[in-house]
Amino acid sequence: MNASTQHYTDILIIGSGVAGLSAALRLAPFHQVTILSKSNLSEGASYYAQGGIAAVFDDTDSIESHVEDTLIAGAGICQKEAVEFIASNAKHCVQWLIDQGVLFDTEITESGETQYHLTREGGHSHRRILHHADATGKEVETTLVDLAIAHPNIHIKERYNAVDLILSNPANSSRILGAYVWNRQKEQVETIRAKTVVLATGGAAKVYQYTTNPDISSGDGIAMAWRAGCRVANLEFNQFHPTCLFHPQARNFLLTEALRGEGAYLKRPDGSRFMPDYDERCELAPRDIVARAIDHEMKRLGADCMYLDISHKPDDFIKNHFPTIYAKLMTLGLDLTKEPIPIVPAAHYTCGGVIVDKMGMTDITNLYAIGEVSYTGLHGANRMASNSLLECLVYGWSAAENINKTIKQIDEIPYLPEWDESRVHNSDEQVVIQHNWHELRLFMWDYMGIVRTTKRLERALRRIHLLQQEIHDYYANFRISNNLLELRNLVQVAELMVRCALERKESRGLHYTLDYPDPSPNSGPTVLIPE
Ligand SMILES: Cc1cc2nc3c(=O)[nH]c(=O)nc-3n(C[C@H](O)[C@H](O)[C@H](O)COP(=O)(O)OP(=O)(O)OC[C@H]3O[C@@H](n4cnc5c(N)ncnc54)[C@H](O)[C@@H]3O)c2cc1C
Repeated sequence: MNASTQHYTDILIIGSGVAGLSAALRLAPFHQVTILSKSNLSEGASYYAQGGIAAVFDDTDSIESHVEDTLIAGAGICQKEAVEFIASNAKHCVQWLIDQGVLFDTEITESGETQYHLTREGGHSHRRILHHADATGKEVETTLVDLAIAHPNIHIKERYNAVDLILSNPANSSRILGAYVWNRQKEQVETIRAKTVVLATGGAAKVYQYTTNPDISSGDGIAMAWRAGCRVANLEFNQFHPTCLFHPQARNFLLTEALRGEGAYLKRPDGSRFMPDYDERCELAPRDIVARAIDHEMKRLGADCMYLDISHKPDDFIKNHFPTIYAKLMTLGLDLTKEPIPIVPAAHYTCGGVIVDKMGMTDITNLYAIGEVSYTGLHGANRMASNSLLECLVYGWSAAENINKTIKQIDEIPYLPEWDESRVHNSDEQVVIQHNWHELRLFMWDYMGIVRTTKRLERALRRIHLLQQEIHDYYANFRISNNLLELRNLVQVAELMVRCALERKESRGLHYTLDYPDPSPNSGPTVLIPE
């Protein structure tokens, strides 16, 4: 490796979803920013968000009500201060998006005024979701991507995987100096020195066999931060979206919660509704309750799927509100306006992550984590719908504010040791990686899924330890590849998830175990501290 593979940037942002891009655009007027994206720039969970962004825009709504709803959905263990911080900064952060050119749907009131059309989703007691039809994420992400590409101070490195963070004193996690990154095109590891690093790598839902997430969601940021010495929290809380399309030709296609917000019913194969048997809020109960009810009905009836039915609403209403979903389903021969649609739950959102303060700062000086990779305290034991894009925006703002204030005091970054590849060679056994991938995702689905037991979790942990040993040997001896990097990270995150789940001796929110079916009176976040 030669000196030309060592780069410098003021701020390195790892991830180009809504969290990473919003921070980058706020920093770029003042600093040189490098954004790393391990796939195409717009590829990430952000692009696929359908429902929208929660913020109080209606006079009959209030920040107190947004806070209250979030606390209820979080099942008693949200950090109230964080919830208040996010809800009270929601409006100006969403307004910032509007100022960047993002278009949200509007409607004309009876008095002839134009106002934002707000939808309602599970757990929200008011209509407070701003949206762009049913493709909000695409509208937000592509607007921010276009602005980032055009900005002279933003330098984009697409198809680069961050491998590991570089610290000033790895034995005693101190300050961040940069990261080793793998250039996928050239298949070489490069070094990026930076005064500040922002992890915006998204969640880890790909640890499960069935997920609504894109391929990039492999928990890389959580694993890198943990290896670097950061604490993590609440990784037992994996949200399963209740309504992922069940169809052999459509993997990962989500049927937004807004369908239920607009009146869709959940039905058994015989056409009868079942949510009234489970919760007085019926289809608008929080996601964990709905997902468990579907899982229970499927197991009880031995059915492959349940059904979501909005066909009782007028055709035009459905086509206008859900044009993307309508069009996609038509390509599969399913007509949303005429028939119930087959659905199953799938892993959707990682509520826990790297512990950060209100500025998005982790335990390591000048290392930030924002968006789904982080644990801010907002979601508690269950994320309320449409709060996550909001969390990305609020922490994109607060982290950028803090970086702008503090970066001048950070010392120059010294030249860093190069990545050492002298003892590794090309792998001749890719099949080992493929096999481990499938094995991990399948047993996580079976043993760490919607309903858990201590025995299953212990079984999962034993398998994880075996995989970790194999992967460690593989990593030490062979040149890296995308699959190997992601597998190494996923197995690390899987271990943290199972350890968190084993520590929680109760059922709460998204964590439901048959061994401890009730909530405990004294509960709080599960915090893991690296040794
Ligand atoms: C189908 C779907 C629908 C959703 N709907 C909604 C909704 O309506 N409202 C809502 O609030 N939330 C919704 N969510 C959740 C929300 O979209 C995500 O929580 C949010 O977009 C996460 O944004 P992010 O910027 O943290 O990460 P992402 O958007 O996932 O971006 C992660 C970025 O990190 C990069 N990356 C990851 N690892 C590395 C690495 N090692 N090196 C370099 N780059 C890396 C990726 O390439 C990507 O650019 C939805 C999620 C899904 C999957």
